[in-house]
Amino acid sequence: MAFDRILGQEQPKKILKNALQSSNIAHAYLFHGQESIGKKQIAIELAKSLNCASPIKGDACDGCISCRKIENRTHPDFFFIEPTKNTPTAREAVIKIEAIRELQRKLAFHPYEGNVKVAIIDNADLMNLQAANSFLKTLEEPPLATILILISSNPFKLLPTLISRCQTIQFQPLTQENIKKILKEIMTEEKIENDTLAFRTLRSRGSVKKALAEDIENIVNIRKEIVSLLETISFDRMDVVFSHAKSWANQSDQWELILNELMELVRDLAFFQSGCTESEVYNRDIAERLKLLASRRTVNSWLKIFTAIHTTKIALSGNANAQLFFENMLIDFCEAA
Ligand SMILES: [Zn+2]
Repeated sequence: MAFDRILGQEQPKKILKNALQSSNIAHAYLFHGQESIGKKQIAIELAKSLNCASPIKGDACDGCISCRKIENRTHPDFFFIEPTKNTPTAREAVIKIEAIRELQRKLAFHPYEGNVKVAIIDNADLMNLQAANSFLKTLEEPPLATILILISSNPFKLLPTLISRCQTIQFQPLTQENIKKILKEIMTEEKIENDTLAFRTLRSRGSVKKALAEDIENIVNIRKEIVSLLETISFDRMDVVFSHAKSWANQSDQWELILNELMELVRDLAFFQSGCTESEVYNRDIAERLKLLASRRTVNSWLKIFTAIHTTKIALSGNANAQLFFENMLIDFCEAA
């Protein structure tokens, strides 16, 4: 059955199945939780269940014309709104008022084929203020036979008045086991080795998108470089400071990755030095090496290093002199000893 095909998210599925079985569906939902953990899929399954020609215990059959049309986004009573870019090169995608107005026009009619009209607003927090205010009116006076589903990974960016008019359902990061199953399913074309699968799963933090996006080889190399840097760096080795600062300054496309890896590794080192166990760290696969490294500094020293990385991250998001900031950061590392 449709809901059960989706791995994880037992609680949201239970809430929605109960609502479907007792015909107690809210007129507006907010599905929130980190990116790529199944919010959109469950919203689509809910739309199918609401309009399915032969539902099974309230769940969609997945085979009828209505289910197939919703799956293909060709159902006349199913609307999917997502942020778009003004131009292909624009940095930010937004949901503009025009898209909301068009949706409002369509929602004014009775359902053409189905029982209810279902509108999904994906990344609802990217509605601009005009669009959000306009959408608020729809939430305040919901059109008949309409279910609205807002999806957001950043619900704190939504207008509080929008949130208060929705039934909120929180989605949790996927378990490692479920991430592994999904990766195996998606990556059937490639021959993934067990080591790679384990590494991607470990680094996913419960998000399929993150697990798939990882450029494993690059990450392993950068992490190796950072660990040996942390093992060597001191005021006696200024050559290490200057060579790394120069090399990193020249790789602006890698800054985000380098700084994120640094932060996660230093976090793990501070955790180990505070007496935490392997289950609490990110880089579990190199735990032994990290434990040894962690013991060479105090927790306070690791925390100072963490702050130095964070400050550099903020500085580099402006048009800072990268080499200078990397040098400063690495000197802070030496000083934190
Ligand atoms: Zn069906």
